[in-house]
Amino acid sequence: MAVDLHAHSTASDGSFAPSELVDLAVERRLTALALTDHDTLEGLDEALSAAEDTGIELIPGTELSLGYERGGMHLVVLWLQPGNGPLQDKLAGLQSGRETRNFRIVEILQEHGMDVTMDEIEAEAGGGTIGRPHIAAVMIEKGYVEDMRAAFDDWLGNDSPAYVNRPRLNPEEAIDLARQSGAVPILAHPHTLGVRRSREMAELLDRLRDAGLVGLESIYASYRRHEREGYSDLARRFGLVPSGGSDFHGTYKPGLDLGIGYGDLGIEESVLEELRGFAVQ
Ligand code: AMP
Ligand code: ZN
Ligand code: FE
Ligand code: FE
Repeated sequence: MAVDLHAHSTASDGSFAPSELVDLAVERRLTALALTDHDTLEGLDEALSAAEDTGIELIPGTELSLGYERGGMHLVVLWLQPGNGPLQDKLAGLQSGRETRNFRIVEILQEHGMDVTMDEIEAEAGGGTIGRPHIAAVMIEKGYVEDMRAAFDDWLGNDSPAYVNRPRLNPEEAIDLARQSGAVPILAHPHTLGVRRSREMAELLDRLRDAGLVGLESIYASYRRHEREGYSDLARRFGLVPSGGSDFHGTYKPGLDLGIGYGDLGIEESVLEELRGFAVQ
């Protein structure tokens, strides 16, 4: 019996509607699925009602991009209930910063001679929160880049010509808001932090754990076995729960399957039970 604690739907930059994601979770025989769309809780009502009577536990959540100089710091937040609350109330502001950024990215692409419009990107996103993968999809469609990787490497990624920053919560603030909201914050895919030295990683994990961090995403689809073990050991050493997720995005991450990752994911239910102990319902 496996669970998946990190997945995206059409409410952000996944290609499956929330209810389709639940159907897929049933097909993959998962017992629990967390919907963690970027900066939004929009998909949760649909997902929660689709999950009723399926035997799948749908865990409401989101994924936040935090302010961190060194690299990409993402926070998966589980058991964040739709409606109002300390963290919930911050999401609208994050979305408007995202919108301003998206417009600026499109301007830059146009300045470089690309015929890419906001209308096309909105159509690609289908009404959900717009992310860089949607912009990339339009660039691919129009033949400006070969694939997702090239879109990020050549244009949209950090330090690329069309990279534009946006307002983010700082790590301590986000972790604290999550806990105040009764939710469970987990540091996502730690390899993107850009922290190589173990001393520096130790300082960071100490700092974030003291701020209220609960989990470290250790069982991640793209990690090899020794990495999963390494991050799980690291989590335990710092009093964190080794969480796991596929980071499923449907067609926006080709070859990556829900619950299964690239074939060998398999996140145990016991991790979910440990994390659940920190949720305040
Ligand atoms: P955004 O939230 O709009 O800044 O977009 C971030 C999303 O873009 C991530 O969650 C990934 O799904 C995707 N992404 C980021 N970097 C890359 C990359 N180098 N290659 C492919 N997808 C990426
Ligand atoms: Zn994404
Ligand atoms: Fe992420
Ligand atoms: Fe994600």
